[in-house]
Order: sequence, then structure tokens, then C-alpha cells
Amino acid sequence: MKKVLVTGGSGLVGNAIKTVINGESSEDEWIFVASKDADLTDNNSTRALFDRIKPTHVVHLAAMVGGLFHNMNNNLDFLRKNMQINDNVLQTAYEHGCIKVISCLSTCIFPDKTSYPIDETMVHDGAPHPSNYGYSYAKRLIDVLNHAYHDKHGCLFTSIIPCNIFGPHDNYRPEVSHVIPGMINRMYQLIYEEKSLPDNEKVFVVYGSGKPLRQFIYSLDLAKLIMWVLDNYDSVDPLILSVDEENEVTIFEVAKAVAKAFDFKGKLICDTSKADGQYKKTASNKKLRSLLPNFKFSAFEDAIDASVKCSFPQLRSGRVCMDADFLCYWCNFMLGVMGILTKVS
Ligand code: GDP
Repeated sequence: MKKVLVTGGSGLVGNAIKTVINGESSEDEWIFVASKDADLTDNNSTRALFDRIKPTHVVHLAAMVGGLFHNMNNNLDFLRKNMQINDNVLQTAYEHGCIKVISCLSTCIFPDKTSYPIDETMVHDGAPHPSNYGYSYAKRLIDVLNHAYHDKHGCLFTSIIPCNIFGPHDNYRPEVSHVIPGMINRMYQLIYEEKSLPDNEKVFVVYGSGKPLRQFIYSLDLAKLIMWVLDNYDSVDPLILSVDEENEVTIFEVAKAVAKAFDFKGKLICDTSKADGQYKKTASNKKLRSLLPNFKFSAFEDAIDASVKCSFPQLRSGRVCMDADFLCYWCNFMLGVMGILTKVS
């Protein structure tokens, strides 16, 4: 039986793993920790956490994360905090003899000037996009650390590289949010808080040109894949966990899907004075497909619809509450009934 410590356990992906585990009968013991349980930027606090939990396995999700605009303003913090967290977690996991550590990277860390599609061999091939170099270099160093721990001590520390993630329990705070929770929050405000205009005269602003391309993975799909990686993937080299290349969408298409989920009656316009960030970061999931050919990803519009419905209690109250949890379980149950959430075969 494994004893799995999940760092960053109260975030988007940690909550998705909880939801998946609750729907299955796992023999393993899972412990989810958040920043209130330990300060992972602090070595003593990290050691105290591992001494208390004594994990055999670690899913390392904890990180300073944020959308394009948060990264652009805080590269130094993204670099330092993430380097501190990763160094503490990996060294402490080594000292505790953990059998496996899976750390979460992101497709935004790949080189800015590159050929497409990007694959796992290209992580260190060139400078990342200038908007998020702090986060990117800190995350790239996890891959370097994983190899160094393997070379020196034979550790099985590995990494996954998801594309953009969205789902229930996202971070909706405008100053830090990624595009989907950012749009959900702003559309919620426009529809339910802006009373001065009739619904069909309201205008929703898409930041940037709307043209950048992104691959999006639903957090519950990612949770299932992480659980598969934990049991089945035994290489130190990173593994891209992304939807297929043909499922890449423009930011404007994302706005249309969010508008549809809200049944928004107004107009969508683009504000080109705002930054676009990377134009695209199209990633290949060929390696994942070769290992797990039959995995079915949730349909994008259905997953957006579930995410929008799940966000209401959180947005109404300004915090995560029991109602939000209940609603999320209900939404995911309905997705399951619709046959969208398919078990890993
Ligand atoms: P990225 O994928 O790492 O670049 O980060 P984001 O998810 O923050 O942004 C993706 C794209 O969405 C960028 O081109 C933004 O200009 C665009 N975008 C449109 N509306 C929003 C919004 O409300 N919030 C954010 N964060 N980005 C938005």
C-alpha cells in the first residue's frame, strides 16, 4: 500500500485528485496538504511535514502559479519561490527514501522559438517566453534535479508536463487567474452584478487579440492521468499530459464556450491593448498515446459547462465552501453519466 503525499493539495489539481479518488476504491492512503499545513519554501517546515506524514510517494503540485499577467509582473518571485519549494521537497523526499516523486511542470516552460509540435526532448532547447521566464526556469530545474538525484542516488523522481488546466476549484482572483477562471469570473460579474444594461447590450471583453492557441486539459482528466503515472510510469524523463493537437482552440473560441455555458446574450469583443503572451505552445502527446492509447479526454465544451456551473457558489460567496464541493461532485457525476468521463483502460 502506498502512502501518497500530495503537496498543493487544496488547489485545482489536488481537488481533482480528491474527486477521482472519492469515486473509486483505492487501497492507497492519500494525504493532501496545503500552505496552512507547511511552508515548503522553508526547509525545517518541509522536514517537519515529511517527518509527520512519512510518505512512500509524493505528487508534488505545490508551486507559485498564475496567469500571464501575474507572471509578467512577478518573474523574480516565481523563480525564487518555486526553486526553494522544489529544492526542499525533492531533497526531503530523498532523505526519507520516498519510492517515487511526480512533480508538475507545464507546457509554458518550453522554448519560445521552437518547431511544433513540442515534445518531451525539447524542454531545455532555448529560452522560454519572456513573459514567464521566472516560472519556466524554476520548473525546468526540476527536470535537472530529477536526473541529478537519479544519477547520484538512483531515485525515481519524475515529472509530468500538462497543457493549460481548468476545472472546479480554480483560482478566480482576477490579479492571478489563468484565462478560463479569469473569463468565468468576469462573465459572472457582467451578467449578475452589472445591472445598468439589458442582457443583450452587455459587452464581454476578451483580453488580447483572441488569436493565441492553447490546448486545455480538464482537471479531472489530468487527475486520472496522474494516478496512472503513479502506478505505471517508471522513467525519470518527463511525460507530456495533453489533449491531442487537433483539440487546440483559440482564446476567442474559449470565450465563446464560456459565453455559451452562461447563456450570455451580449457581444464579445477583443481588447488588443492587452498582452497576448505566447502565440502557441502546441505540444505532442505521442508519448502518452503510445503508453495509454485508449484514454478518452472530456469534450471541451462539456467540461467548460461543468466548470462554469461549479464556479457559482464559489463566486457568489468569494470563497470555497461546502456547497461548492457538493455542486462539483454533482457536476462531475452528471459528466460521468453522460459518458464523458471514461475510465483509464
Ligand atoms: P498562458 O496560457 O500561460 O499564456 O496564460 P493565461 O491562461 O493567463 O492566458 C492565455 C491567453 O488568454 C493570453 O493570450 C491572454 O491574453 C488571454 N486572455 C483573455 N482573457 C483573459 C483573462 O481574463 N485572463 C487571462 N489570464 N488571460 C486572458
